[in-house]
Amino acid sequence: MDFPSPNSTKFSDSWNWRSLLRLRGLAREFVRCNVGNGRDLQVLENAKVREVCASDGWIITNPRSDKALNLQIYLTTIQIPHDDQGMDSYDWVVQDHICEGFSSSRTWASVRPRAALVDWFHTVWYKGAIPKHAFNMWVTNLNRLPTKVRLAHWGLNINTTCDLCSSQLESRDHLMLHCDYALVLWEAVRVRLNLPQLSFTSWSDLILWTRTKNCRSPPTLRKLVTQSVIYAIWKQRNNLHHNQAQVLPYVLFKGIDREIRNVIIARRLNKRFEKLMSCWL
Ligand SMILES: [Zn+2]
Repeated sequence: MDFPSPNSTKFSDSWNWRSLLRLRGLAREFVRCNVGNGRDLQVLENAKVREVCASDGWIITNPRSDKALNLQIYLTTIQIPHDDQGMDSYDWVVQDHICEGFSSSRTWASVRPRAALVDWFHTVWYKGAIPKHAFNMWVTNLNRLPTKVRLAHWGLNINTTCDLCSSQLESRDHLMLHCDYALVLWEAVRVRLNLPQLSFTSWSDLILWTRTKNCRSPPTLRKLVTQSVIYAIWKQRNNLHHNQAQVLPYVLFKGIDREIRNVIIARRLNKRFEKLMSCWL
């Protein structure tokens, strides 16, 4: 296939075009040519397949190396280009799958860097999640929230006491799992889901809990509730810290409850959500 050379770019060429040319080596891996009449396919700069074959075979000198011999053997498996075969054509092929034209999604999935699947993936990015809750959960799970303990670790000279309980250091695990404020919310969740107990000694306990299930609380509901609680606690923490606006935990839970009901109603046609309302109410 004829790929424009990067050396052929002109000063007046746009940045976009020059950027595309730099990807030619990568793009070449995905392009497969179907030889028809051999009139368009170009192997090197201007060499055309049609020019190296006659009606009775390929016009190639006798092989002088194993490599050349193997090439000739391979060529015998390819039909000689002929006008009856129609025009040459190109396919965009990703991992042996012939795409209908260019597929950005398949190509990106093929070339993007991949890491091993982490065990918390489905707790954060599940189908039907509220995007702002999922993003907040992702940041929280990575322990990247700017809690006071982290801010002090960065060198800020601040009071690291939790604003919600005024008794412990404000770390992620304290704020979300062990703070008296959070404990009221988790207790309300426990009662609503009719669970015998609900306490998390560590963050990994919480992640594990979202992946397990019983008849009253399937994983989708646990993830929905968990992300809503985590989001509400962080929002309330910021509200108290920056605006001195205090909201009692049982009032906050009313808002969480209302939000969860709205989400379930909005996704009631989704198979994962259709029975969740009876579990939550
Ligand atoms: Zn606290």
